[in-house]
Amino acid sequence: MSLDAVLSRIDTDLPQALHRLLELLRIPSISTDPAFKPDCARAADWLVEDLKSLGFEAASRPTPGHPMVVAHGGSGDKHLLFYGHYDVQPVDPLNLWDRDPFDPAVQDTPTGKVIRGRGAADDKGQLMTFLEACRAWKAVHGTLPGKLTIFLEGEEESGSPSLIPFMQANAAELKADIALICDTGLFDDNTPAITTMLRGLLGEELTIHAANKDLHSGSYGGAAANPIKILSKILGNLTDATGRIVIPNFYDGVTELPDSIRQQWQSLSFDHAKFLGDVGLSIPIGEQDRTPLEMLWSRPTAEINGIWGGYTGEGFKTVLPAQAHAKVSFRLVGDQDADAIRSNFRAWVEAQVPADCRVEWKGHGGGGASVMSITDPAFEAARQALTDEWHVPAAYIGCGGSIPIAGYFKTYLDMDAMLIGFGRDDDQIHSPNEKYDLECFHKGIRSWARILQKLA
Ligand SMILES: [Zn+2]
Repeated sequence: MSLDAVLSRIDTDLPQALHRLLELLRIPSISTDPAFKPDCARAADWLVEDLKSLGFEAASRPTPGHPMVVAHGGSGDKHLLFYGHYDVQPVDPLNLWDRDPFDPAVQDTPTGKVIRGRGAADDKGQLMTFLEACRAWKAVHGTLPGKLTIFLEGEEESGSPSLIPFMQANAAELKADIALICDTGLFDDNTPAITTMLRGLLGEELTIHAANKDLHSGSYGGAAANPIKILSKILGNLTDATGRIVIPNFYDGVTELPDSIRQQWQSLSFDHAKFLGDVGLSIPIGEQDRTPLEMLWSRPTAEINGIWGGYTGEGFKTVLPAQAHAKVSFRLVGDQDADAIRSNFRAWVEAQVPADCRVEWKGHGGGGASVMSITDPAFEAARQALTDEWHVPAAYIGCGGSIPIAGYFKTYLDMDAMLIGFGRDDDQIHSPNEKYDLECFHKGIRSWARILQKLA
């Protein structure tokens, strides 16, 4: 099948593709604010109509929150599922926008043309790159590029309350060979990337109880235990002098990077001095035998997110407090088991607490990392397609944070996900003046056409 004809169709149809995106951007589908519920439904309906015009069997499917858009179409050996979300973040503070966020426009800037408006990059512009690639394919070949399921969510910006129940209830229908997710960015302005590693997260909250009431440090200090001292001493020793986390068995399940990935990461132009310099720092603080990108993408962490107790108001009070509190979180990688780490952490803390004190625990959420099996040839095919379009070797990258949807596909539908996105760091998603570079929109569409030609 001729890819060239599809690519040139994409080029000539770009003004119309832009017109369609602007139409979708005009619908204020803010999912978190109930006042915009009808607009979320309208955005879903708009997408259903657009998908139907491409030959998909599409429907807006009700949930207790905002509808899911599910569409099926095409045929082929490999079944691909595409995920994006049509809801957007709130727009306030409105006075920081230089135009109405829901009156989008193409603007000229010193770095090129941008599509300005809420949702331009996150995620309407990105999800439309995939639909436009399908449209061009259909126009040239008369059929969709393969067996496709489209799955568009309307609650991503408000915690996705309906997503897991919907996936569970419709698992047989949604299951495909691989998921394609378009809601991330390029590695840098011109280097395309496939995110293949996402760290997991585990949260713990603890209170150390010492005396049965607050004491006066003149009367009791020196003899009675101070829970803040106990807590800070324990947490101060979470990592050793080399940056290694000392909880027993903490590194069980932490896998070493394959050499091919290590080499790719070394060749990426990551400027850690600038990365830290932008936030007023200069010294990478993780394990000293690891590169900064490894620290961020493929190594686990232990962080103290909050610590409090005693008297913290104005002036001074010589209190010897009865309790001290902290919130601690761990970013997890590889096959690290969140439950095992929770119990190992608790045992490690409790072993260091004096016998006349006790620890009270409150567990927060926990979930392991997502690591895609890039030995599936689909990954290498997609990487080649991206490289062809951008003329720069595409990279497999990690993501320090968590993108829950990728893990959900694995957990609930037993499928790997390829996170491929065309956002840039300065897109200002979630902020005033969100934009999507026209170049990213255009090359994003072309990229999907190339990927679909190889995968479907
Ligand atoms: Zn998003």
